[in-house]
Amino acid sequence: MPIYEYKAVSGGCEHCKRRFEVRQGMNATPLVECPRCGAPVERLLSRPHICVVEPLSEKEKLVKRTPEEADRQGLIEGFAEDRIYE
Ligand SMILES: [Zn+2]
Repeated sequence: MPIYEYKAVSGGCEHCKRRFEVRQGMNATPLVECPRCGAPVERLLSRPHICVVEPLSEKEKLVKRTPEEADRQGLIEGFAEDRIYE
């Protein structure tokens, strides 16, 4: 089951003012409010959570795009994480 990430639109409690994850079915209705405090939340479009435990190989590091390149190629769109952790 996919895990979606949400974040309070503004304010919120300790639970939702930073990102929190909710495991939901593909067709589940997205949350609109924090389950703890009821603050409005928005769903973040994040990378799929894939269970990869091994670190990137040297080859993968070499082909890793810079943010500028990814932006030019439109790859950064929708990856909310890239904007949160700078
Ligand atoms: Zn909350």
